[in-house]
Amino acid sequence: MKKLLILSGKGGTGKTTVAAAFASFSGARALADCDVDAPNLHLVFGELPTPRSTDFMGGDKARVNVEKCLGCGKCLEHCRFGALSFAGDKAVVNEYACEGCGVCAQVCPAGAVTLLPDLAGRQELYQGERVFSTAMLKMGRGNSGKLVTKVKLDLLKYAPNCPLAIVDGSPGIGCPVIASVGGMDLVLVVAEPSPSGISDLERLVKTAESFRVKLAVCVNRWDMSPENTEKIEAFCLRQGLPFLGRLPYDKSASLAINRGLSVADVDCPLREALKELYGKALVLLELGKN
Ligand code: SF4
Ligand code: SF4
Repeated sequence: MKKLLILSGKGGTGKTTVAAAFASFSGARALADCDVDAPNLHLVFGELPTPRSTDFMGGDKARVNVEKCLGCGKCLEHCRFGALSFAGDKAVVNEYACEGCGVCAQVCPAGAVTLLPDLAGRQELYQGERVFSTAMLKMGRGNSGKLVTKVKLDLLKYAPNCPLAIVDGSPGIGCPVIASVGGMDLVLVVAEPSPSGISDLERLVKTAESFRVKLAVCVNRWDMSPENTEKIEAFCLRQGLPFLGRLPYDKSASLAINRGLSVADVDCPLREALKELYGKALVLLELGKN
């Protein structure tokens, strides 16, 4: 199985538009959405079968038994994360601030604090005509890299014989991106033609290069700034990175997404540019153009 990961330096650059179009062109039967903070690839797949859902447990969080709490305030004094406060005369934990260090449980004279595993998200696996692995992390939870790895592992486990897997990655260069890059055969970076887009691209390339994966670049909405598009092409030339193409701004993209479709389902200039891009990506993946 060849694995193609689509990344961007930040959200809103069109990464999922590209991933959804590629999925449609290829008829890919192996797909994953590793953007666990805001997964949205499923929105263009129409009706999906009921997924197999699995709880994703993060680290521990403190819970206070108010029946036992004496209101002494020792836990507040010792919590380095400011995760405890009083509600009336009882201690309460802010689940978003608690790091699960357990100090409060140790200092509590009443044994009122327990540490319990935290439900940090949910993993979903759709198995129908295609295998689609995705997940959603709860707001304010860490461990996104661990969840991304689980999403990838499920894809490999349940769709082992598919010739091509398409993975929509997380935006940025953080933990989930690093977790998604490992083991990929090609990372396609969707860049935005703006000064911040160029800087994002440079940082992302630096991050991905340390994993020694094959990288390629395209520019979305290139016509918004031909000058910056040229700068990105020049950067790719200097770095020896294949530049796969320019995608035009096309309002059909948002119209298609609003109707729950991929751009690949709509006859428009962007579709044609994406098709060409897809063909070039297949060549880099040594799958030939189909
Ligand atoms: S240390 Fe224990 S008893 Fe004291 S306020 Fe905290 S939870 Fe309540
Ligand atoms: S477990 Fe640690 S971080 Fe969480 S409330 Fe207790 S002392 Fe604070």
